[in-house]
Amino acid sequence: IESKLPQVGTTIFSVMSQLAQECEAINLGQGFPDFEPPARLREALARAVADGRNQYPPGIGVAALREQIAYKTEALYGRSTDPGTEVTVTSGATEAIFAAIAATVRAGDEVIVLDPAYDCYVPAIELQNARAVRMPLLQPEFSIDWQRLADAITPRTRMLIVNSPHNPTGAVLTADDLDRLAALLRDTSVLILSDEVYEHMVFDGALHQSMSRHPELAARSFVISSFGKTYHCTGWKIGYCVAPPALTAELRKVHQYLTFASFAPAQWALAEMLEAEPEHHLELSAFYQDKRDRFRALLADTPLVLQDVPGGYFQLVDYSAVRDVDDATFSQWLVREVGVAAVPLSPFFETPPESRLMRLCFAKNDATLEAGAARLAALN
Ligand code: PMP
Ligand code: GLN
Repeated sequence: IESKLPQVGTTIFSVMSQLAQECEAINLGQGFPDFEPPARLREALARAVADGRNQYPPGIGVAALREQIAYKTEALYGRSTDPGTEVTVTSGATEAIFAAIAATVRAGDEVIVLDPAYDCYVPAIELQNARAVRMPLLQPEFSIDWQRLADAITPRTRMLIVNSPHNPTGAVLTADDLDRLAALLRDTSVLILSDEVYEHMVFDGALHQSMSRHPELAARSFVISSFGKTYHCTGWKIGYCVAPPALTAELRKVHQYLTFASFAPAQWALAEMLEAEPEHHLELSAFYQDKRDRFRALLADTPLVLQDVPGGYFQLVDYSAVRDVDDATFSQWLVREVGVAAVPLSPFFETPPESRLMRLCFAKNDATLEAGAARLAALN
């Protein structure tokens, strides 16, 4: 069969996790916590199953959960949100991303993707017979090159994808970035897909600059998040999209035939959790900032050079003082010989830069971070 996605193989996250298992390495590669979701949430899930929440929920999501999402969006970002027409629950952020693209991007359209980029955007664009226009972020901060972005917008540009806090770099957008973006798009019909799955992991007192905070941008945005990140339950695959009614209506057309609905018991459990412990997500930045600082202190004894981490749960490191080889070679060597799985950066780029960077996940128990850092210290 002639592949529709000839350049796509297995994602780097699956590849590195499998290698980590085979090599019995400490897995700091794929982004997932090695600790459990809150007890209340686990109990609520068991109760939802016992209580018979086991048949199809409403396709757009359980009402109680959509109401909690709307409430949270208003409380955090000052956006008045209608759970009936503006909130859709999806099977992870991944499904929301695919559905938003499939619903609005036509053959021949252009979608601007900022490199490095999370790996599910480009295949979703190419499956629509549209073109991903990839534009590098400016190193070392991985900030937007505004002139280059302005130049990349053409009459064919249908969508711009942004991701803050950013995977893999941890970069975050500022309020000034949002104003510049609004000015740039003002006279266009370009849509925004805003991947905000790390919205509750922003450090050093900064605020998460959701598109939902900015009415002009919110009016053209699919704002997508994931409970997997916020409640340490990446395997439950429950995400959501907040978007104006006209955009939500289009997204739901795809969602209803892609999955129809998402896992019902988890939706009931999450609705209960959001209502009972609204402080959980407010405490998450401090929780992960502490992990970041602990991990960085542990890595100070290694030859790795640490990049700043304003948000998210990944630490980028420059390994060039250890070996001057490309990142694929280095990460293979690291997992096999040193027993630490990391994620190389080149799969996130169309044209990988010369830099010698890899990504380490610090959403891990302290013992895991300590054991990983001890192995990395042996690189000295
Ligand atoms: N976007 C980004 C930037 C991510 O890092 C992830 C998950 N690792 C996703 C989307 C997908 O989230 P989910 O697991 O909820 O589908
Ligand atoms: N988003 C996670 C990461 O960046 C992994 C998710 C996945 O494996 N698809 O590592």
